[in-house]
Amino acid sequence: MSTLVIEGATILSMDSQSSIIRNGSILVNKGIIEYVGPYRDNYGCRIDDRLNVVGKAVLPGLINSHTHLCMTFGRTIGVERDLVAWLAVQVPLISAMDRDAFYYCELLGAIENIKNGNTTIVENIVAPLTDDNRMENAALEALKASGARGVLARCHQSRNFAQEYLETADQQDTRVRALAEQWHRVDEGRFRVAIGPQLPWLVDEDGLKSTQALARQLGLGLHMHVAENPNFNIQIAKHFGRPIRNVELLFETGVLGPDTQVVAVSDISDREIELLEKTNSAVVFDPQTRLYWGSGFAQINKFLDAGLLCAVATNGAGANCSQSIFESMKYACATAKTAAQSPTALGCRRSLRMATIDAAKQLGMDHEIGSIEVGKRADLITVDLTQPHLSPAFDVEAALVYSASATDVRDTIVGGEILMRDRKLQKLNERDVVARACELASIALKASGIDEHNLVNVRERTH
Ligand SMILES: [Zn+2]
Repeated sequence: MSTLVIEGATILSMDSQSSIIRNGSILVNKGIIEYVGPYRDNYGCRIDDRLNVVGKAVLPGLINSHTHLCMTFGRTIGVERDLVAWLAVQVPLISAMDRDAFYYCELLGAIENIKNGNTTIVENIVAPLTDDNRMENAALEALKASGARGVLARCHQSRNFAQEYLETADQQDTRVRALAEQWHRVDEGRFRVAIGPQLPWLVDEDGLKSTQALARQLGLGLHMHVAENPNFNIQIAKHFGRPIRNVELLFETGVLGPDTQVVAVSDISDREIELLEKTNSAVVFDPQTRLYWGSGFAQINKFLDAGLLCAVATNGAGANCSQSIFESMKYACATAKTAAQSPTALGCRRSLRMATIDAAKQLGMDHEIGSIEVGKRADLITVDLTQPHLSPAFDVEAALVYSASATDVRDTIVGGEILMRDRKLQKLNERDVVARACELASIALKASGIDEHNLVNVRERTH
């Protein structure tokens, strides 16, 4: 791999001081950052490629800590429904995809993330489960083709869900071992595998315990939706036969811990936050999606006060119609401030760290990515600061969190490879991928039995 210099930028390093370097430059050699600091004329080596980024900010690639690329074909379908009713239209659509359609669904979602500046994607895959892991493999192959870095967080269900998604603990064990063998930490650690129940009531206590044991045995992370809305606790009481709250159940079954990412955590008690603190669990917020669902929102300030490691995510395109971590950062601040009734509850600097270095820490990848420091992999993005809606950017952190959009990202680099240059994808033909994906999406929609000309009837109780 060649050398690349990025010069003239305002660099947000996300190092321990959140240092900002004006008119700085970065030297990348063989995918690794070899220099970051003030502009230089000479690097003492041959330079194969240069990115002049005067007027732009350079920051570490953003980490989308929870999404469902597998639901990208479900964008705009079943909007304005509650979670269970929404799943009733999303799941048949996934089931109607063949492997090719599923690959393009994942690829479409991956390039959307790359265009939005998300260089690492935690893909919480919901798919029919098979002995040959064909859907999981399709998802990882799509991530690989896109050039993104990724964690495939595989959903496990053993009850209360469509038959083709169910598996026993033994089946999960065999399939996950094969998947991890093939993908976990391969390609210089570009890909990882995590596991977890999709929703708490889709497994029983034994299912929680066996999933936890398997993850620990194979060194995989645990990743799961937790207390997204008040209905979670109602469903848990119904299916577990006792009034126990979501985090209490996870604590009781030994599932919590530093390698466990709990996602959404909207309907959560102070006692549950204490349990997360006690177990040092990792927390992922998707505030814009919570607002979209009308399911309340996490009181982020309380998690921060408890000293928990927090990250942000978008959740799936099928759930909120956006894959913008810029939205996640902004709404994390807005909801934290609203919850605390204080403008200081969560600042833009911390919010940027939740999208970069703190997210990398949650994944155990902070020695490799999450900040712009010598020795780390060059996962970088540039953002054009010269546009009217970002001018003047006296406080560049505030401009990025409160005023920037994902479409302001101009270049996306992963491991030193430029995946998007001046908004043009370099590895893939964007137009071809979108066209093919839409073609396959239409076929899958038809096969799912949903009438594409009558989607308004798929909504419920709309005004
Ligand atoms: Zn989700």
